[in-house]
Amino acid sequence: MEYALITGASRGLGKAIAERLAKEGYAVIVNYNNSEKAARETVENIEAAGGKAELMKLDVKEGSQVDAAIEAWEAAHPEDYIAVLVNNAGVREDSLLVFMQDEQWDKVMETTLGGFFYLTRRVVKNMMTHRNGRIVNISSVSGLTGMQGQCNYAAAKAGLIGASKALALEVAPRKVTVNVVAPGFIATDMTSELDQDMIKKTVPLGRIGKPEEVAALVAFLASKEAAYITGQVISINGGVC
Ligand code: NAP
Repeated sequence: MEYALITGASRGLGKAIAERLAKEGYAVIVNYNNSEKAARETVENIEAAGGKAELMKLDVKEGSQVDAAIEAWEAAHPEDYIAVLVNNAGVREDSLLVFMQDEQWDKVMETTLGGFFYLTRRVVKNMMTHRNGRIVNISSVSGLTGMQGQCNYAAAKAGLIGASKALALEVAPRKVTVNVVAPGFIATDMTSELDQDMIKKTVPLGRIGKPEEVAALVAFLASKEAAYITGQVISINGGVC
């Protein structure tokens, strides 16, 4: 059976992506780190809609946790493989660069770039063996244009784009695609403290985006129909840039 693993699927975009990929027929692995209750709700929603889902707790920043969890999953699923990987887990630690602390820089880098590296390195191997795979990495408009107070976040999200383009070239001969989705402002916990009027004024389409809208784009990139799209960055931002 083909599984889809979504990192950070307890809340926000990851939750919406997991629920959408389950509707597309994938058995879904719901990764979480701290929010166990919310992750269980994602699984329950999927099962209530007739889908198949299981939990995977790991901190994407910790390579040893990633290796142990994937190894255990593979041992428990000898007939299955992860055909879709969505590297979605991410954090913001905003600060002007002059005031930014080492921990703020490291946490954002390690979550976005460390997480991408540790998980993808493990999972892409089996995709290559099966000559089939879809990797979708969640970047941000901040990684394309920069944003005040986000030197750490913008660097991590821009780095994710570079890494995705390099990996796309490496794995294309094995029919594995690697693409990036770059959302603008989307209504999740991450944006709940932002000035909603500011968002409406900044966005040409005049509203914040919905997690389900990002999930629909990810589902397309994960589909068989997207087989000829790789190494691309697709923005979903209401026309911001
Ligand atoms: P969110 O509501 O804050 O949710 C973040 C998710 O990431 C949670 O499920 C959290 O899991 C998980 N996570 C964080 N650190 C983790 C770690 N070390 N290991 C495993 N999971 C971890 O954020 P969101 O808005 O859904 O954002 C999802 C992605 O979209 C992020 O990469 C973000 O940068 C990107 N993005 C969001 C927006 C937006 O406007 N919302 C715009 C552009 C890009 P736990 O709670 O279980 O720890």
